Amino acid sequence: MTDDLRSHIDEAMTLAAAQLGKGRVADYIPALAKVDPAKLGFALALPDGTVHASGDADEPFSIQSVSKVFTLALALRRVGSDLWTSVGREPSGSAFNSVVQLESEQGIPRNPLINAGAIATTDRLIDGRAGDAVAEEIVDFMRARAGDDRVEIDFDVAFSESETGARNRSLAHFMDAFGNLTHPVETVVGVYFRQCAIAMSCRQLARAGLFLAMEGRDPFTGEQIVEAHRARRINAIMMLCGHYDNSGEFAFRVGLPGKSGVGGGILCIAPGQGSIAVWSPALNEAGTSLAGAVALEHFAYAAGWSVFD
Ligand code: GLN
Repeated sequence: MTDDLRSHIDEAMTLAAAQLGKGRVADYIPALAKVDPAKLGFALALPDGTVHASGDADEPFSIQSVSKVFTLALALRRVGSDLWTSVGREPSGSAFNSVVQLESEQGIPRNPLINAGAIATTDRLIDGRAGDAVAEEIVDFMRARAGDDRVEIDFDVAFSESETGARNRSLAHFMDAFGNLTHPVETVVGVYFRQCAIAMSCRQLARAGLFLAMEGRDPFTGEQIVEAHRARRINAIMMLCGHYDNSGEFAFRVGLPGKSGVGGGILCIAPGQGSIAVWSPALNEAGTSLAGAVALEHFAYAAGWSVFD
């Protein structure tokens, strides 16, 4: 089994490497524009503690929107189902930073994995506390899930996001105007920019996602991170909304819940089997790593991993 997985990873990496040179690195956040588009990393974390890593799997990258999965888990832990009064659970079919639906839907974002929805989720997670304390809670959570204290916020990226964050601020102000923000805009986006700027390697990220593959339980610490029904629902949201208006295509090609970020990372959950993180910075038009999605597609196909079995 292990030998098979290794050869599936090798094959997937060869096919993904053939895609390098296609796609574009995100440049609307200047600090991300400097990343080498030829990077390619893959890590598969299994519940028994094994991690199969390949390529640039130990190099930290900006996890960006992949953070939204973890803040969703934290917000559900903190405020429970009441979160769903602030954010919906429907695919948006539009760009990650789109403002259009917020107007017609009275400031309630479609889902927690688009920017507006993640900002609303972070607002609920703050829950009356200081922004700095919440940013610290998020980083501590990522360290604990990764089993690695070296996970850090990249403050250059956070600063760069804030400097160019007019659109995210607009989303926050828009929600505020509809009464769907409980803290000042700057407090909320201040936490949001920092969560997006967390830097992690594929190895750390794959390990961090494992609780979602194991019914909400971290197999390393034995801790129930979220209840099993919540883990399933987070996976359902990733499946339907994890790649913005590219979510259907990803579900069709990969068949597993995933979440992409404009740093080029994708976290992919194979329920009961393991957690996979890939990284390659050049993106398709929707903001999903081009080579990363190819690696996942081929690995899932070869391993026969799908939620539609
Ligand atoms: N920090 C990015 C933003 O807010 C996250 C977007 C993404 O990864 N899709 O624009």
